Amino acid sequence: MSEYKVNVTNLKKNYGANHVLKGIDFKVANNEVVVLIGPSGSGKSTLLRCLNKLEEPTSGSIVIDGQDISLSSTNIDKARENIGMVFQHFNLFNNMTVGENIMLAPIELGKSSKDEAKKQAKDLLETVGLSEKFDAMPSSLSGGQKQRVAIARALAMNPDVMLFDEPTSALDPEMVGDVLEVMKDLAKKGMTMVVVTHEMGFAKEVADRVVFMADGRVMEEGKPDQVFDHPQNERTKAFLDKVI
Ligand code: ADP
Ligand code: MG
Repeated sequence: MSEYKVNVTNLKKNYGANHVLKGIDFKVANNEVVVLIGPSGSGKSTLLRCLNKLEEPTSGSIVIDGQDISLSSTNIDKARENIGMVFQHFNLFNNMTVGENIMLAPIELGKSSKDEAKKQAKDLLETVGLSEKFDAMPSSLSGGQKQRVAIARALAMNPDVMLFDEPTSALDPEMVGDVLEVMKDLAKKGMTMVVVTHEMGFAKEVADRVVFMADGRVMEEGKPDQVFDHPQNERTKAFLDKVI
């Protein structure tokens, strides 16, 4: 077993002549919360999508929970079940109730019986502060509520790692706090998390480590106070001057 939940070595990703990831080394320990920051276009989403095999790396290795997901012998569907992903846009199924959205994957993939999935969905809705919304349709929810349902849906697969790609960027400001609160609770419970966010307050409070990316490379990383208060790299300084 690897001591890391996520162990990325020399990851490169090209789109034609566009070299988006130029040799990323990125490790996440068990129970660690890593916040990934960097300018738009630096490759943050591409990195997350490679971790989940939504994108095929050009080269390099990605080991999740001791399993090299780039090997053809690795069952990628099984590997993916252990990685929850939450996007900027919630992608809920609008023709299903909130409860059905959460129960779908565990039932379809044979992880739970219908009764188990229902109980778990209710528990998860309580965790994200929406216990009364089990029978609601997604269209009746606010953006922040939808995002909390999306988090519950990802958690329903009991993932080992949760990836968040700007989960609050599309929300009205008054909705942001509730979603961050749910993520904070998850972190406290020991979930291993990689979070791309512009919420520097969240990063300072919750991250064990902050990783700054620019131009497809990791430019700097360290404890939040180190990166935010004493950045070493000029690119980090310039970025932080703009966002803080
Ligand atoms: P970030 O999330 O840091 O803003 P992205 O990973 O989304 O950055 O994008 C990094 C670069 O990769 C950008 O130049 C973007 O245009 C390019 N890119 C991302 N996805 C694709 C794709 N599917 N096809 C071609 N280029 C892409
Ligand atoms: Mg992005």
